[in-house]
Amino acid sequence: MAALLMSLLYQLDQTQWLTPEALFAEQARQLRVLFAHAAASVPFYGRRFAAAGLDPDAAVTRETLHRLPVLRRSDLQSAGATIGTTALPKSHGKRHALETSATTGAPVSLYGTEITGIFWRACVMREHLWHERRMDGKLAAIRPARPGAAMAPLGLSSDSWGRASGALFPTGPAVLLNAASPLPAQLDWLLRERPTYLISLPSNLAALARLSVEEGVSLPGLEQVMTVGEPVTAALRDIVRQAWDVPLKDSYSCEEAGYLAMQCPEQEVLHVQSENLLLEVVGNDGRPCVPGEAGRVLVTSLHNFATPLIRYELGDLAEVGAPCACGRGLPVIARVLGRAPAAG
Ligand SMILES: [Zn+2]
Repeated sequence: MAALLMSLLYQLDQTQWLTPEALFAEQARQLRVLFAHAAASVPFYGRRFAAAGLDPDAAVTRETLHRLPVLRRSDLQSAGATIGTTALPKSHGKRHALETSATTGAPVSLYGTEITGIFWRACVMREHLWHERRMDGKLAAIRPARPGAAMAPLGLSSDSWGRASGALFPTGPAVLLNAASPLPAQLDWLLRERPTYLISLPSNLAALARLSVEEGVSLPGLEQVMTVGEPVTAALRDIVRQAWDVPLKDSYSCEEAGYLAMQCPEQEVLHVQSENLLLEVVGNDGRPCVPGEAGRVLVTSLHNFATPLIRYELGDLAEVGAPCACGRGLPVIARVLGRAPAAG
């Protein structure tokens, strides 16, 4: 596992510099394998390819993609078990249930595999490397947790950052606090724990940073703030900088497809994790958005052969960015704008 992860990280280190065209060519090769697999072993997709008049074994172009219908959450719900493969290739390892926390509608049963797990871990590591994190630092998380669990004043401690980060390198300790803890108690906890890195929801971070400014409290030892779960605004970056004099490093992920995008090491934009998925941003007419335009986010998970997700509409709106000044060919999301209005 560690060797596989190491070689994948090495590959990611190379592919980030490919041109957008070369990246799409790599994706198209993988999509061809995925589409053939999905059409042959997933009844739901067998019907979709037939209805679209597409040969699932043919080479994949952008035109192929646009002819495939968008996969909505309601499609997943009504498809039930027919969205899963009847023949998972052995090389993908065991499948495991993916948690989805969406609260509306019927539950959806989705599965990941050992391969999707390795890509998730590789993206976690890539993010640490991009942002030059010291793995021996202390990581503090303030997140929603079970009612009553990990509450202030103590929270919870563990001796490592977790499975993904610890797979290759030993890490420093981690501490967790329930985001339902009162704000002043969160700030006291941070002052006692003195973390190197802090991860929380943007809304919680904004409130914490404002309180710090009001109380004139700084967080010595803190080097970066990371966010999860909600869109980041320029105002949040400003108040975090003002309160604690540290940069904010954003990332964009979902339970269904893992890492979608993460902040560039040099600029305040997000780079799509094109080795993990194809991410499209489309307007109401279904055409791809150009830099400066916002549209709906569709994701196609390149390596999930257990529950193939092809043009899955996450329900988020995002703005496409211009090619990044850093030179990476990974496509750019200028910003995530939050939930899209419900589709008609
Ligand atoms: Zn960049």
